[in-house]
Amino acid sequence: MEIFKPLDLSSDSQKAEIVNTEKVRCLIIGSGPAGYTAAIYAARANLSPVLYTGLQMGGQLTTTTEVENFPGYPDGITGPEMMEQLRKQAERFGTDIRFGIATKSDFSGSIHKVTFDETKVVEAETVIIATGATAKYLGIEAESKYAGMGVSACATCDGFFYRGKDVAVVGGGDTAAEEATYLAGLCRKVYLIVRRDVLRASKAMQQRVFNTPNIEVLWEHQAIDLYGENGVEGMELVRKKGKPGEETIRIAVDGFFLAIGHTPNSDVFRDFVETSETGYIRTIPGTARTNIPGVFAAGDVQDPVYRQAVTAAGSGCMAAIDAERYLSEKYS
Ligand code: FAD
Ligand code: NAP
Repeated sequence: MEIFKPLDLSSDSQKAEIVNTEKVRCLIIGSGPAGYTAAIYAARANLSPVLYTGLQMGGQLTTTTEVENFPGYPDGITGPEMMEQLRKQAERFGTDIRFGIATKSDFSGSIHKVTFDETKVVEAETVIIATGATAKYLGIEAESKYAGMGVSACATCDGFFYRGKDVAVVGGGDTAAEEATYLAGLCRKVYLIVRRDVLRASKAMQQRVFNTPNIEVLWEHQAIDLYGENGVEGMELVRKKGKPGEETIRIAVDGFFLAIGHTPNSDVFRDFVETSETGYIRTIPGTARTNIPGVFAAGDVQDPVYRQAVTAAGSGCMAAIDAERYLSEKYS
């Protein structure tokens, strides 16, 4: 992929780059499954999309090994390979893919302005925001040491690899309760590691946890380390930290799942685009439309519920179709 184009000073388009502003019909921000799928559809609809990859070219799936639940790959595929194929497919239809990070947006007029890397302004008739969400981690060193080797932030994605084994889920909210219950259907034993003596999860979700015999809740426990030779073999926990009776214990587990929340990458757009209290961009149900005409959102940045590659790709498709219809109506 050509990331930086050589400058041709004789061409008008390149002169526009030098003054650091450019007009495009369809701007796509993000290179995960949502962004690349939006690009495939937008390019095939002649919208000449320009896609900015952000820091993580290929998105979250580039941080995982095997993806087994994306339709069309009966033998599975690695995350980086899958995203490479999506990129090539987007390029095949003429998507202009560039490296750059959106740092500012201005959606106050009918032409939407997005600034990349603080310097380059793109003026777009339509914008598709596909900037994803980032799973929160505890911040302990072992999480990166064992990334892809027993540490995961997605039970639906990775639970299958731990069939019949013992795992831990950290968190006390609905996600943790849901993931623990899901894993309990696959694993021999699930430890739910809760830092307080209550769950934040809804009563209904709590009941599901308490009614599942192979889930053991470890109240007032905090994971502080992981151990293992070639992958996670166990974890170290502090019980009742800072209180009388504080103790450190070790428990053998094969998988360590984080479920302490996600942060949607919507900060740059929040002054204009409506979001939920937790920062997810609100779309009009059944569409990819936001509150701003001509601005659409797709993938995890607008999805606090499913957060899967296939749902992200599906909503990327919706965003491109909505963008195409918006432009057709505008010029009809
Ligand atoms: P992302 O993939 O998060 O991509 C976001 C993109 O936006 C990135 O390219 C990033 O660089 C870009 N971006 C962010 N901010 C900016 C900015 N300011 N400017 C420009 N660009 C920006 N799902 C499955 O279906 N199956 C699996 O097996 C699976 N395994 C997973 C394993 C792991 C370890 C993780 C973390 C997730 C997994 N998921 C899996 C979930 C899946 O990865 C996500 O649901 C999916 O990637 C979301 O796609 P997206 O396009 O919305 O966003
Ligand atoms: P959440 O509600 O913010 O809960 C995060 C949990 O992680 C809390 O229990 C929190 O503990 C714990 N936590 C945070 N940082 C931690 C740390 N450093 N160490 C240990 N524990 C830590 O997030 P969520 O569960 O992802 O839910 C997000 C939203 O989605 C919620 O509104 C939820 O209701 C919704 N949701 C709904 C469903 C459903 O209805 N089926 C499913 C999933 C999510 P404390 O409690 O001590 O703060």
